[in-house]
Amino acid sequence: MTDPAFLPHIASMTGYVPGEQPQDSHTIKLNTNENPYPPSPKVESRLRAAIGEGLRRYPDAAAAGVRQRLSTLFDFPMEQLVVGNGSDELLNIAVRCFAGPGDSVSFATPSYPYYTKLIDLQAARAVTTEFDETYQLPAGLVEADAAVTFVPNPNSPSGTLVSSEALDELAQQLSGILVIDEAYIDFSGKGALDLVRRHDNVIVMRTLSKSFSLAGMRIGFCVASPRICAGLWKVKEHYNVNSLSQVAAEAALDDVDWMRNNAARIVNTREGLTATLREWGFHVWDSAANFILARAAADVDAANMYTALRDRGILVRYFADNHRLKNCLRISIGTDEEIDQLLAEVKTFL
Ligand code: PMP
Repeated sequence: MTDPAFLPHIASMTGYVPGEQPQDSHTIKLNTNENPYPPSPKVESRLRAAIGEGLRRYPDAAAAGVRQRLSTLFDFPMEQLVVGNGSDELLNIAVRCFAGPGDSVSFATPSYPYYTKLIDLQAARAVTTEFDETYQLPAGLVEADAAVTFVPNPNSPSGTLVSSEALDELAQQLSGILVIDEAYIDFSGKGALDLVRRHDNVIVMRTLSKSFSLAGMRIGFCVASPRICAGLWKVKEHYNVNSLSQVAAEAALDDVDWMRNNAARIVNTREGLTATLREWGFHVWDSAANFILARAAADVDAANMYTALRDRGILVRYFADNHRLKNCLRISIGTDEEIDQLLAEVKTFL
Protein backbone atom coordinates (compact mmCIF):
# COMPACT_ATOMS: atom_id res chain seq x y z
CA MET A 1 0.00 0.00 0.00
CA THR A 2 1.36 3.43 -0.86
CA ASP A 3 1.10 6.30 1.57
CA PRO A 4 -1.46 8.84 0.44
CA ALA A 5 0.36 11.85 -1.01
CA PHE A 6 -0.33 15.16 0.65
CA LEU A 7 -0.25 18.23 -1.52
CA PRO A 8 3.35 19.48 -1.37
CA HIS A 9 2.53 22.69 0.49
CA ILE A 10 0.62 20.73 3.15
CA ALA A 11 3.39 18.16 3.47
CA SER A 12 5.97 20.87 4.02
CA MET A 13 4.05 23.07 6.46
CA THR A 14 4.08 22.78 10.23
CA GLY A 15 0.88 22.78 12.25
CA TYR A 16 -0.03 25.58 14.63
CA VAL A 17 0.80 24.84 18.25
CA PRO A 18 -1.71 26.54 20.54
CA GLY A 19 -0.74 27.64 24.05
CA GLU A 20 -0.84 24.93 26.67
CA GLN A 21 -4.30 24.18 28.14
CA PRO A 22 -3.82 22.22 31.37
CA GLN A 23 -7.10 20.61 32.40
CA ASP A 24 -6.61 20.94 36.16
CA SER A 25 -8.28 23.72 38.12
CA HIS A 26 -5.37 24.77 40.31
CA THR A 27 -2.95 26.11 37.68
CA ILE A 28 -2.85 29.90 37.55
CA LYS A 29 -3.21 30.19 33.83
CA LEU A 30 -1.67 33.36 32.46
CA ASN A 31 -0.51 31.99 29.11
CA THR A 32 -3.33 32.30 26.55
CA ASN A 33 -4.93 35.67 27.27
CA GLU A 34 -8.22 34.31 28.52
CA ASN A 35 -10.44 36.46 30.72
CA PRO A 36 -10.10 35.59 34.43
CA TYR A 37 -13.72 36.57 35.09
CA PRO A 38 -16.79 34.55 34.06
CA PRO A 39 -19.12 35.62 31.26
CA SER A 40 -22.36 37.46 32.05
CA PRO A 41 -24.75 35.35 34.17
CA LYS A 42 -27.24 35.76 31.31
CA VAL A 43 -25.06 33.38 29.28
CA GLU A 44 -25.53 30.46 31.65
CA SER A 45 -29.27 30.91 32.11
CA ARG A 46 -29.93 31.21 28.38
CA LEU A 47 -27.72 28.23 27.60
CA ARG A 48 -29.65 26.10 30.09
CA ALA A 49 -32.91 27.07 28.46
CA ALA A 50 -31.51 26.43 24.99
CA ILE A 51 -30.42 22.91 25.88
CA GLY A 52 -33.92 22.25 27.14
CA GLU A 53 -35.38 23.29 23.81
CA GLY A 54 -33.34 20.63 22.09
CA LEU A 55 -30.38 20.56 19.80
CA ARG A 56 -32.11 18.56 17.13
CA ARG A 57 -32.09 21.26 14.49
CA TYR A 58 -29.28 22.91 12.59
CA PRO A 59 -28.26 26.34 13.80
CA ASP A 60 -29.19 29.54 12.00
CA ALA A 61 -26.64 29.68 9.18
CA ALA A 62 -26.88 33.48 9.16
CA ALA A 63 -26.47 33.85 12.95
CA ALA A 64 -29.10 36.58 12.59
CA GLY A 65 -29.69 37.07 16.32
CA VAL A 66 -26.01 37.72 16.89
CA ARG A 67 -25.66 39.97 13.85
CA GLN A 68 -28.74 41.94 14.83
CA ARG A 69 -27.21 42.76 18.19
CA LEU A 70 -23.87 43.63 16.62
CA SER A 71 -25.67 45.82 14.12
CA THR A 72 -27.32 47.81 16.92
CA LEU A 73 -24.17 47.96 19.01
CA PHE A 74 -21.85 49.16 16.27
CA ASP A 75 -24.27 50.87 13.89
CA PHE A 76 -23.49 48.79 10.81
CA PRO A 77 -26.16 47.14 8.65
CA MET A 78 -26.45 43.36 8.97
CA GLU A 79 -25.01 42.88 5.47
CA GLN A 80 -21.71 44.29 6.78
CA LEU A 81 -21.37 41.67 9.52
CA VAL A 82 -20.21 38.06 9.35
CA VAL A 83 -20.00 35.80 12.42
CA GLY A 84 -17.37 33.08 12.68
CA ASN A 85 -16.35 30.08 14.75
CA GLY A 86 -13.89 32.31 16.58
CA SER A 87 -12.14 35.11 14.76
CA ASP A 88 -9.60 32.46 13.76
CA GLU A 89 -12.16 31.10 11.31
CA LEU A 90 -12.75 34.55 9.83
CA LEU A 91 -9.01 35.14 9.44
CA ASN A 92 -8.88 31.81 7.65
CA ILE A 93 -11.78 32.70 5.35
CA ALA A 94 -10.26 36.08 4.51
CA VAL A 95 -6.99 34.53 3.40
CA ARG A 96 -8.81 31.91 1.35
CA CYS A 97 -10.83 34.64 -0.36
CA PHE A 98 -7.99 36.97 -1.24
CA ALA A 99 -4.67 35.08 -1.43
CA GLY A 100 -3.98 32.17 -3.76
CA PRO A 101 -0.79 30.19 -4.47
CA GLY A 102 2.21 32.51 -4.72
CA ASP A 103 0.30 35.65 -3.69
CA SER A 104 1.94 37.73 -1.01
CA VAL A 105 0.46 38.14 2.45
CA SER A 106 2.18 40.66 4.67
CA PHE A 107 2.46 41.32 8.39
CA ALA A 108 4.96 42.66 10.87
CA THR A 109 6.69 40.33 13.32
CA PRO A 110 6.62 39.24 16.08
CA SER A 111 2.91 38.79 15.86
CA TYR A 112 0.14 36.20 15.91
CA PRO A 113 1.77 32.97 14.63
CA TYR A 114 -1.51 31.63 13.22
CA TYR A 115 -1.20 34.02 10.23
CA THR A 116 1.75 31.95 9.01
CA LYS A 117 -0.28 28.77 9.04
CA LEU A 118 -3.10 30.36 7.05
CA ILE A 119 -0.62 31.58 4.47
CA ASP A 120 1.00 28.14 4.22
CA LEU A 121 -2.40 26.50 3.74
CA GLN A 122 -2.97 28.61 0.66
CA ALA A 123 0.57 28.08 -0.66
CA ALA A 124 0.73 31.86 -0.52
CA ARG A 125 3.91 33.77 0.30
CA ALA A 126 4.54 35.40 3.67
CA VAL A 127 6.23 38.80 3.41
CA THR A 128 7.25 39.79 6.91
CA THR A 129 8.84 42.96 8.25
CA GLU A 130 10.25 43.14 11.72
CA PHE A 131 8.81 45.64 14.18
CA ASP A 132 11.35 47.84 15.87
CA GLU A 133 11.24 48.26 19.64
CA THR A 134 8.45 50.84 19.39
CA TYR A 135 6.10 48.38 17.66
CA GLN A 136 4.73 51.09 15.38
CA LEU A 137 3.80 50.14 11.80
CA PRO A 138 6.95 49.47 9.75
CA ALA A 139 7.28 50.92 6.23
CA GLY A 140 7.64 47.37 4.90
CA LEU A 141 3.87 46.86 5.04
CA VAL A 142 3.30 49.56 2.43
CA GLU A 143 6.29 48.46 0.36
CA ALA A 144 5.03 44.86 0.25
CA ASP A 145 1.58 46.04 -0.91
CA ALA A 146 0.42 42.46 -0.50
CA ALA A 147 -2.85 40.82 -1.50
CA VAL A 148 -3.65 40.68 2.23
CA THR A 149 -2.01 42.67 5.04
CA PHE A 150 -2.61 41.72 8.67
CA VAL A 151 -2.37 44.25 11.46
CA PRO A 152 -3.33 42.94 14.88
CA ASN A 153 -4.18 45.96 17.00
CA PRO A 154 -3.33 45.74 19.85
CA ASN A 155 -0.52 43.51 18.66
CA SER A 156 0.27 40.20 20.33
CA PRO A 157 2.64 39.46 22.02
CA SER A 158 3.67 43.10 22.56
CA GLY A 159 0.25 44.42 23.63
CA THR A 160 1.08 47.67 21.85
CA LEU A 161 -1.39 49.81 19.95
CA VAL A 162 -1.02 51.79 16.72
CA SER A 163 -3.21 54.82 16.12
CA SER A 164 -6.33 54.85 13.97
CA GLU A 165 -4.64 57.61 11.96
CA ALA A 166 -1.74 55.29 11.10
CA LEU A 167 -4.19 52.56 10.07
CA ASP A 168 -6.22 55.03 8.03
CA GLU A 169 -3.09 56.03 6.14
CA LEU A 170 -2.09 52.39 5.63
CA ALA A 171 -5.53 51.48 4.26
CA GLN A 172 -5.19 54.39 1.83
CA GLN A 173 -1.77 53.27 0.64
CA LEU A 174 -2.54 49.57 0.16
CA SER A 175 -4.14 48.23 -2.98
CA GLY A 176 -4.95 44.87 -1.33
CA ILE A 177 -7.03 43.92 1.68
CA LEU A 178 -6.14 45.28 5.12
CA VAL A 179 -7.28 42.99 7.93
CA ILE A 180 -7.27 44.83 11.25
CA ASP A 181 -7.39 42.11 13.89
CA GLU A 182 -8.94 43.71 16.98
CA ALA A 183 -9.12 40.63 19.21
CA TYR A 184 -7.97 42.71 22.20
CA ILE A 185 -9.44 46.11 21.39
CA ASP A 186 -11.94 46.21 24.27
CA PHE A 187 -9.01 46.61 26.68
CA SER A 188 -7.86 49.77 24.94
CA GLY A 189 -11.13 51.62 24.44
CA LYS A 190 -10.32 52.53 20.85
CA GLY A 191 -10.98 50.80 17.58
CA ALA A 192 -10.90 51.11 13.82
CA LEU A 193 -14.48 50.18 12.90
CA ASP A 194 -14.95 53.62 11.37
CA LEU A 195 -12.28 52.83 8.78
CA VAL A 196 -14.73 50.34 7.26
CA ARG A 197 -16.97 53.31 6.45
CA ARG A 198 -14.14 55.05 4.62
CA HIS A 199 -12.21 52.23 2.93
CA ASP A 200 -13.53 49.42 0.75
CA ASN A 201 -10.43 47.31 1.43
CA VAL A 202 -10.65 47.14 5.23
CA ILE A 203 -11.90 44.16 7.26
CA VAL A 204 -12.06 44.60 11.03
CA MET A 205 -12.07 41.34 13.01
CA ARG A 206 -13.23 41.05 16.60
CA THR A 207 -13.91 38.25 19.03
CA LEU A 208 -16.00 37.43 22.08
CA SER A 209 -13.19 35.19 23.35
CA LYS A 210 -11.31 37.78 25.38
CA SER A 211 -13.33 40.72 26.69
CA PHE A 212 -16.63 38.78 26.78
CA SER A 213 -15.02 35.74 28.48
CA LEU A 214 -16.31 33.30 25.87
CA ALA A 215 -13.15 31.70 24.44
CA GLY A 216 -14.68 28.26 24.86
CA MET A 217 -17.75 29.12 22.78
CA ARG A 218 -15.71 30.18 19.71
CA ILE A 219 -17.42 33.33 18.47
CA GLY A 220 -15.79 36.00 16.36
CA PHE A 221 -17.18 38.54 13.95
CA CYS A 222 -15.98 40.84 11.25
CA VAL A 223 -17.12 44.14 9.80
CA ALA A 224 -16.42 45.03 6.17
CA SER A 225 -18.09 46.40 3.05
CA PRO A 226 -21.23 44.61 1.85
CA ARG A 227 -19.27 43.34 -1.15
CA ILE A 228 -16.50 41.82 0.95
CA CYS A 229 -18.98 40.28 3.39
CA ALA A 230 -20.91 38.69 0.53
CA GLY A 231 -17.66 37.08 -0.64
CA LEU A 232 -16.67 35.86 2.82
CA TRP A 233 -20.16 34.42 3.15
CA LYS A 234 -19.63 32.19 0.10
CA VAL A 235 -16.54 30.63 1.65
CA LYS A 236 -17.69 30.11 5.22
CA GLU A 237 -18.95 26.69 6.22
CA HIS A 238 -22.72 27.16 6.23
CA TYR A 239 -23.41 26.08 9.83
CA ASN A 240 -20.15 27.52 11.13
CA VAL A 241 -21.46 28.82 14.46
CA ASN A 242 -23.30 26.20 16.51
CA SER A 243 -26.65 26.88 18.19
CA LEU A 244 -25.31 27.10 21.74
CA SER A 245 -22.55 29.49 20.72
CA GLN A 246 -25.13 31.73 19.09
CA VAL A 247 -27.25 31.69 22.26
CA ALA A 248 -24.19 32.51 24.37
CA ALA A 249 -23.14 35.33 22.05
CA GLU A 250 -26.61 36.86 22.05
CA ALA A 251 -26.76 36.76 25.84
CA ALA A 252 -23.29 38.26 26.21
CA LEU A 253 -24.12 41.03 23.75
CA ASP A 254 -27.28 41.78 25.75
CA ASP A 255 -25.04 42.54 28.73
CA VAL A 256 -22.23 44.67 27.34
CA ASP A 257 -21.90 46.49 30.67
CA TRP A 258 -20.75 43.22 32.24
CA MET A 259 -17.95 42.99 29.67
CA ARG A 260 -16.98 46.65 30.13
CA ASN A 261 -16.78 46.28 33.92
CA ASN A 262 -14.53 43.24 33.63
CA ALA A 263 -12.38 44.95 31.00
CA ALA A 264 -11.97 47.94 33.33
CA ARG A 265 -10.90 45.67 36.20
CA ILE A 266 -8.40 43.93 33.94
CA VAL A 267 -6.98 47.27 32.75
CA ASN A 268 -6.60 48.33 36.37
CA THR A 269 -4.74 45.12 37.26
CA ARG A 270 -2.61 45.48 34.13
CA GLU A 271 -1.49 48.97 35.09
CA GLY A 272 -0.56 47.82 38.60
CA LEU A 273 1.41 44.84 37.30
CA THR A 274 3.18 47.03 34.74
CA ALA A 275 4.20 49.58 37.38
CA THR A 276 5.52 46.94 39.78
CA LEU A 277 7.53 45.06 37.18
CA ARG A 278 9.05 48.33 35.97
CA GLU A 279 10.06 49.15 39.54
CA TRP A 280 11.76 45.77 39.68
CA GLY A 281 13.85 46.47 36.58
CA PHE A 282 11.78 44.89 33.81
CA HIS A 283 11.15 46.66 30.53
CA VAL A 284 7.39 46.49 30.06
CA TRP A 285 5.86 47.74 26.82
CA ASP A 286 2.77 49.96 27.21
CA SER A 287 -0.04 47.46 26.82
CA ALA A 288 -3.51 48.12 25.44
CA ALA A 289 -4.50 44.46 25.80
CA ASN A 290 -5.25 41.92 28.55
CA PHE A 291 -1.62 40.84 28.72
CA ILE A 292 1.77 42.46 28.99
CA LEU A 293 5.14 41.78 27.42
CA ALA A 294 7.96 42.16 29.92
CA ARG A 295 11.69 41.91 29.28
CA ALA A 296 13.78 40.86 32.24
CA ALA A 297 16.90 42.84 33.11
CA ALA A 298 20.15 41.56 31.58
CA ASP A 299 21.20 39.77 34.77
CA VAL A 300 17.90 37.87 35.05
CA ASP A 301 17.15 34.80 32.92
CA ALA A 302 13.52 34.85 31.72
CA ALA A 303 13.69 31.19 30.65
CA ASN A 304 14.62 30.15 34.19
CA MET A 305 11.93 32.42 35.59
CA TYR A 306 9.37 30.80 33.28
CA THR A 307 10.36 27.37 34.57
CA ALA A 308 10.39 28.48 38.20
CA LEU A 309 6.88 29.94 37.84
CA ARG A 310 5.71 26.80 36.13
CA ASP A 311 7.04 24.68 38.96
CA ARG A 312 4.95 26.83 41.31
CA GLY A 313 1.80 26.26 39.21
CA ILE A 314 1.84 29.57 37.32
CA LEU A 315 1.83 29.35 33.54
CA VAL A 316 3.03 32.32 31.47
CA ARG A 317 4.44 32.45 27.95
CA TYR A 318 8.13 32.35 27.11
CA PHE A 319 9.30 32.65 23.51
CA ALA A 320 12.51 30.70 23.04
CA ASP A 321 13.08 31.16 19.36
CA ASN A 322 12.48 34.83 18.53
CA HIS A 323 15.36 37.27 18.96
CA ARG A 324 12.95 40.22 19.15
CA LEU A 325 11.44 38.60 22.23
CA LYS A 326 14.74 37.75 23.85
CA ASN A 327 14.50 37.37 27.61
CA CYS A 328 10.79 38.26 27.49
CA LEU A 329 7.71 36.81 29.16
CA ARG A 330 4.16 37.45 28.07
CA ILE A 331 1.81 37.47 31.02
CA SER A 332 -1.97 37.40 30.66
CA ILE A 333 -3.80 39.55 33.17
CA GLY A 334 -5.53 37.41 35.79
CA THR A 335 -7.49 38.44 38.85
CA ASP A 336 -5.76 40.71 41.38
CA GLU A 337 -5.19 37.66 43.60
CA GLU A 338 -3.58 35.69 40.77
CA ILE A 339 -1.33 38.59 39.86
CA ASP A 340 -0.37 39.07 43.52
CA GLN A 341 0.68 35.41 43.63
CA LEU A 342 2.61 35.81 40.40
CA LEU A 343 4.41 38.86 41.78
CA ALA A 344 5.23 37.05 45.03
CA GLU A 345 6.86 34.25 43.02
CA VAL A 346 8.69 36.68 40.74
CA LYS A 347 10.02 38.48 43.81
CA THR A 348 11.25 35.22 45.31
CA PHE A 349 12.92 34.34 42.02
CA LEU A 350 14.64 37.71 41.77
N1 PMP B 1 -6.14 37.34 16.77
C1 PMP B 1 -5.21 37.40 17.73
C2 PMP B 1 -4.15 38.45 17.64
C3 PMP B 1 -5.22 36.48 18.77
O1 PMP B 1 -4.27 36.51 19.72
C4 PMP B 1 -6.25 35.50 18.82
C5 PMP B 1 -6.34 34.52 19.96
N2 PMP B 1 -5.34 33.60 20.05
C6 PMP B 1 -7.18 35.48 17.79
C7 PMP B 1 -7.10 36.43 16.79
C8 PMP B 1 -8.24 34.42 17.69
O2 PMP B 1 -9.20 34.51 18.64
P1 PMP B 1 -10.53 33.65 18.57
O3 PMP B 1 -10.40 32.66 17.45
O4 PMP B 1 -10.65 33.00 19.89
O5 PMP B 1 -11.63 34.62 18.29
